[in-house]
Amino acid sequence: MLNIKIFGIVQGVGFRPFVKNLADAQKIFGTVANRGSYVEIFAQGSEEALKNFLDALQTKNPPRSAILKVDVNDLPDKNFSDFKIIDSVHEAGDIFVSPDIAVCDACKEELFNPNDRRYLHPFINCTACGPRLTILKNMPYDRERTSMSDFPMCDACAEEYFNPASRRFDAQPICCNDCGCEVYLIRNEELGIRNWDAIRHVRKILANGGIVAIKGIGGFHLACDARKFSAVQRLRDSKTRPTKPFAVMFKDIAAVKRECFLSEAEKIFLDSPQKPIVLLRKKFGSIAQNVAPNINKLGVMLPYTPLHLLIFDFPDDIKNFPDALIMTSGNPSGVPITIDDDDAIKNFDCCDAILSHNRKILLRADDSVMDFIDDKPSMIRRSRGFAPLPIFYDSNKKSVLAIGGELKNTFCLAKNDLFYASPYIGDVSDLRTVEVLEKSIERMKNLLEINPEVVACDLHPRYQTTKLAEKISSALDVPLIKIQHHYAHILSCLSENNFHDEVIGVAFDGTGYGLDGTIWGGEFFICDTKNFERVASIKPFTQAGGDKSSREGWRIALNFINLDVARELNLADEKNLRGVKFLLDKNINCVTSTSVGRIFDAIAAILGVCKVSTYEGEAAMKLQAAAERSDKNFRAEFLTTEEIFNEVLTRRLDGENIFDLARFFHESLAEMTAAIVEDLSRKSKIKTVALSGGVFQNSLLSSLTNEKLNLRGLKVLRHELIPPNDGGICIGQALHVSQSQCGIQTSCAKDST
Ligand code: ZN
Ligand code: ZN
Ligand code: FE
Repeated sequence: MLNIKIFGIVQGVGFRPFVKNLADAQKIFGTVANRGSYVEIFAQGSEEALKNFLDALQTKNPPRSAILKVDVNDLPDKNFSDFKIIDSVHEAGDIFVSPDIAVCDACKEELFNPNDRRYLHPFINCTACGPRLTILKNMPYDRERTSMSDFPMCDACAEEYFNPASRRFDAQPICCNDCGCEVYLIRNEELGIRNWDAIRHVRKILANGGIVAIKGIGGFHLACDARKFSAVQRLRDSKTRPTKPFAVMFKDIAAVKRECFLSEAEKIFLDSPQKPIVLLRKKFGSIAQNVAPNINKLGVMLPYTPLHLLIFDFPDDIKNFPDALIMTSGNPSGVPITIDDDDAIKNFDCCDAILSHNRKILLRADDSVMDFIDDKPSMIRRSRGFAPLPIFYDSNKKSVLAIGGELKNTFCLAKNDLFYASPYIGDVSDLRTVEVLEKSIERMKNLLEINPEVVACDLHPRYQTTKLAEKISSALDVPLIKIQHHYAHILSCLSENNFHDEVIGVAFDGTGYGLDGTIWGGEFFICDTKNFERVASIKPFTQAGGDKSSREGWRIALNFINLDVARELNLADEKNLRGVKFLLDKNINCVTSTSVGRIFDAIAAILGVCKVSTYEGEAAMKLQAAAERSDKNFRAEFLTTEEIFNEVLTRRLDGENIFDLARFFHESLAEMTAAIVEDLSRKSKIKTVALSGGVFQNSLLSSLTNEKLNLRGLKVLRHELIPPNDGGICIGQALHVSQSQCGIQTSCAKDST
């Protein structure tokens, strides 16, 4: 008998019926079950039948599914007499809370059918689509335990709800134009405008270049015409967001293809039931220049609620309604996405209208964001549509709460080998975000019925998340284990690769608290889930000037160059240059760092690509975009990041092309990394490398490093559906404490530096 585990997009796409049909055709007996993040099959039959079955599983899978990985194990036969789809909910006490699912094709058709009783109903949904996690109060998932308990069903809806033959059988959010939720405008002058009138009103504003706040599934969006420079600029000014890219929602695939290049793999995810934002390569089209300035990709999504569809396609007399709208999270900077009307009125002064509705959002869920590297997905923000689907990893079955990191926070609850990562919370340095984090933890704990026996958090003594973890662990009276940041990154990579042995871990990112109290971020570990050893790092340098040193790359560059060169490159004004040089010379307000993220900033500064970042990762994104404009190939061998920096600097002063130098930097860093790993592998005999940390969101660096490691005969583990950035570390933290026997992590970790 074969035990087959299929990972990827396998939920809500008709995967289990597909498996059953294949099994029946091959006369295979066994079962198929939904296991949250994967589908598990037990299959028993002749050798040839099993071979055909396995082939077909991977080649004939349903159009909207995407298979990332297949694990196959041989087990002793059992007494199966047929092939069954197992209803996996609540099996073995494991809870699978469904993520929210984008509106399905059948509902879309009814929505625009004048003869249907849900014609133009902004909340149409069915058993296969609609909100789930965001409207759920408690398990089990029943109507009275969701936001829909406010809306008694009409007779017609009740008939469908209780009829097993209906495609709305047991669909908890079911409602129609006669019962259920409504959309409406919420500011004084527009109060009282409801339903279709409200949608018409909003369409008129958007068509005329205005800004509208729109309540969605997991929070409010701010929307405007993505083709109108002035509208986009007004939105930027009001959000105090000068250059950070905005996501664009296109009406349909045709509109996407007009503006962006779209591969088959990208299309599958873009149009999947999860409907994430996918980063696509821009064409020179009609999208305003200020939507994603100075980078070559655009964050793109498709409509995923019936309300989105109505905003694009409502049958009124407005001509030329834009087929591309900015859809950016509606939140004041640093604070989680807005979900209720009072906050919306407070926060969205800049908007020409606020379109809300009366279906309460109980748990926030921002849009998920995904890039593609080497034609495989690379998650950047795992949230709506994916959370809280669990990751499976054999552990010692402890119940765990891992609070995660400070930036891009998500937290993780784990039990019975299942690791449930939360939707995106945000940057927890703001106390309002801490409050949201604390409430979200409480809600998810109740939903998943997990009582943590141990709490995990980052090692950083001043993180708000650390303080919250201390508070929660003492309230629960359970141990708290603090885990080094980059070790958690590497473990998050092992978790999604279901990898159990020792690896060489390469963690490159912006910042993280090291065991020695310095800033780490360019680390080479030898580790497994229980222990790690820091066996190498990039050459340490100095960050001067506190927080500013992580936004202003020229401050890092001053480590390596003198004032004359800094003046020649026009890095900053005289006063600032002298000030920072003074701090560096006298070692005042300085901290030792091995952050690769900061090296990117420094290179971006001396190349003139970006001297000051207005959002996290801006310099690195612009440097990558610059590198991708070069078609040169370099063979470059350097031992340290300082040598690489000096070479780039010399060539820059010689007047070499900036794009070529950006490319040269990526090539050199990848080569240096591969050489260090090769050396470690020779000494340790470990042949597997895990790449993690926010810097590996850089698809060029990830791709080059992977290639160079493969050339050296090494196996490379990378991220796909868990972010390599700090949004993933909660899973790494949870994995370590579920495996580890020791009380305090830092005492069992060796530090070799
Ligand atoms: Zn549907
Ligand atoms: Zn109804
Ligand atoms: Fe990090």
